[in-house]
Amino acid sequence: MSIQSNLNTIKASLPEHVTLVAVSKTKPVSDLLQAYEAGQRIFGENKIQEMTEKWEEMPKDIQWHMIGHVQSNKVKFMAPYVTLIHGVDSLKLLQEINKQALKNNRIIDCLLQIYIAEEETKFGLDEKELNELLTSVEFKELKNIRILGLMGMATFTENQNQIKKEFTHLKSIFDSIQTLKTENCELNTISMGMSGDYQLAIECGSTMVRIGSSIFGGR
Ligand SMILES: *Cc1c(COP(=O)(O)O)cnc(C)c1O
Repeated sequence: MSIQSNLNTIKASLPEHVTLVAVSKTKPVSDLLQAYEAGQRIFGENKIQEMTEKWEEMPKDIQWHMIGHVQSNKVKFMAPYVTLIHGVDSLKLLQEINKQALKNNRIIDCLLQIYIAEEETKFGLDEKELNELLTSVEFKELKNIRILGLMGMATFTENQNQIKKEFTHLKSIFDSIQTLKTENCELNTISMGMSGDYQLAIECGSTMVRIGSSIFGGR
């Protein structure tokens, strides 16, 4: 199957309120251009250097999403152009994003990554840390970031019940923080679901899916 037909099949299966992030990590620019020509304008990458190289080469009407774990000292490289940072999991990182956004005279949209999986390897905040962050004085002072919502990754397992439980948990956390909204929050986005589990994620309330291998093939 071609990238174009994979993309069209997936897009046709998504409800209108769900945004598709085409995850193009490790794939060459020629593959991204095929998706671009098929109409895709949102791409997700997990390494800042790779994303920046692709941003330089690709058309300028693309929205670049950082979906990987971000190190504070690398934020400055994407601050001029990144559209949405999915994996924010500390106040310290938010403060650095805010600082670099200010330098670039812009507001950078972010999602807070929540730890929902039963795995040691996944990054993210737990519910208590999330609440502490959102209610802290330091957070309210950050005028150059905007929190659009939450991001999470389910456990890598065949067990649909477990995945469903984890996605439902993320949705319930998302609902519970609506009352904590401050001026730098909009809280309209839940980024959950990848190639193997995006349909289930949408059933559980996802508004943004991050799909790589089902579009571009295996890595
Ligand atoms: C790679 C990646 C994806 C896409 O995974 P696929 O299984 O290829 O769809 C989604 N989210 C994150 C955070 C990723 O690193």
